[in-house]
Amino acid sequence: MATIKLPPKQAYCPYSKFRVGAALLTLDHRVFTGCNVENACYNLGLCAERNAISKAVSEGYRAFKAIAITSDLSDHFISPCGGCRQFMREFGPNWDVYLSKPDGSYLKMTVDELLPVSFGPEDLSMSKVFNIPNEF
Ligand SMILES: [Zn+2]
Repeated sequence: MATIKLPPKQAYCPYSKFRVGAALLTLDHRVFTGCNVENACYNLGLCAERNAISKAVSEGYRAFKAIAITSDLSDHFISPCGGCRQFMREFGPNWDVYLSKPDGSYLKMTVDELLPVSFGPEDLSMSKVFNIPNEF
């Protein structure tokens, strides 16, 4: 996967001043980029990773090969937040996540390594103690 050296100028981060960019590669080699988008109502902010994944899903892509993440951190690899790890997991545990630095160096991990023993869509169809009818 090509190294990305964002972080993107498009990042909207007037509150944190912490720019984050993501580039998502689909299995059929399309790339969707994303940046963080903050909000005056802080908890409505959107991470770059979820932004990129949502763009891909909205265009009909749900099979991913990798996502690369970048930021302004000079000495540390940018790591996805817990919410983004779960958001990635929705689309499978076995695809790659590149945690990068602006100098182009990176750590390659998988979604499963970042979120071990995770909860995913298949868990919803496992047998349960009680079956609650979906009728009201
Ligand atoms: Zn996040």
